Amino acid sequence: MTHVTRLFINATQVVTCAGPARGRRGVEQADAAVRDGVGVAVGADGRVVSVAPDGDLRAAHPGAELIDCAGGVLTPGFVDSHTHAIFGRARYEEQELRAAGVGYLEIARRGGGIHSSVRDLRTRSADDLVALARARLRRIAAHGTTTLEVKSGYGLSLESELTTLRVIRRLAADAPMRLVPTFLGAHEVPLEYREAPRDREEYIALVTGEMIPAVAAEGLARFCDVFCEPGVYTVSETRRILLAARAAGLALKLHADELENGAAAELAAELGATSADHLAAISEAGVAALAKAGTVATLLPGTMLFLGRPKQAPARALVAAGVPVALASDFNPGTSPTVNFPLVLTLGVSQLRLSVGEAFVAATVNGAAALGLAAEVGQLAPGFQADLALFDVRDHREIPYWYGDNRCLRTWLGGRPAHLG
Ligand SMILES: [Zn+2]
Repeated sequence: MTHVTRLFINATQVVTCAGPARGRRGVEQADAAVRDGVGVAVGADGRVVSVAPDGDLRAAHPGAELIDCAGGVLTPGFVDSHTHAIFGRARYEEQELRAAGVGYLEIARRGGGIHSSVRDLRTRSADDLVALARARLRRIAAHGTTTLEVKSGYGLSLESELTTLRVIRRLAADAPMRLVPTFLGAHEVPLEYREAPRDREEYIALVTGEMIPAVAAEGLARFCDVFCEPGVYTVSETRRILLAARAAGLALKLHADELENGAAAELAAELGATSADHLAAISEAGVAALAKAGTVATLLPGTMLFLGRPKQAPARALVAAGVPVALASDFNPGTSPTVNFPLVLTLGVSQLRLSVGEAFVAATVNGAAALGLAAEVGQLAPGFQADLALFDVRDHREIPYWYGDNRCLRTWLGGRPAHLG
């Protein structure tokens, strides 16, 4: 048996999310397996050994270091499965443009939006990008996140996409959370491929023929993602790009049906994508297709809130249809500049009408499933990584309740301190 080195004791509640090591669907998504009066024993290998009453743990492991949770609530660290954390400058000016009635696609057509981040990122050194992102990762960790997916996609050239992914790899060496890299070279069609002699076909050929092979050869990404949306990449273009990625050994994600329905969710299901993300405009057929394929629906309520759009993804219909639903921040400089994962939980309940239990499962187990990590992280159960977050509340329902506040005190990664408060 693994030698127990640490005991987390004196928590009022432990949200374990214990259960099957896969995306939770339907009624099982509602059970976050919250327990009172228990502690967590962690082994020398950084994994959970047992969850049991404090007294039993102390009697069984008298030599272990005691970590006093001081009456707070212990949860699995959040698994944020959708971010764009590598960028240069903030884009606060667009917030006022939107307030004045200028739409997202119109801002893009004027060369703003993603394109302004692309222009900016291409001028920056890798060291600069590492320094900017490192500060952001600290803020994200301070809110309870212990696993973070990070996409490229503000480079949109072979060199700057590879630079972005190498930056993520450098950050992963000492980040206060686990990082999962995703290649998003098809985030937009760069402006220089929109006028003769170049065209979007040439860019897609660059993505499939040069970028994907280079990313795969260097082992720089676990996933390939495409922004599949009317006005960005069509369903048939997305299919070609993702088939090339799959052939190169990458798992698949899609930005799907975010603003307008384009049957992108159906494509995610067809290709066996790990997740389909956004989905505010998904159709009934799209919901049914995701359910059948077992693809995780990753919902990003912060984005719709920040964009001031009234229509959120149909979370209740997705849960009812048996689609595993995950919550993520979509942290990015244009449409969701929040590092606050507890706020995403709040929006999951208040905007998406998830129960608190469903929201916790969406933020942990199902986020892990959206990253192919459901057997590693996302629950406090024997054998799982001891990735924990401690909150200064007495009941787990207070975490989404005190909205906008940050009650996270500390986090641990594999049982070792990550964010120290
Ligand atoms: Zn995104």
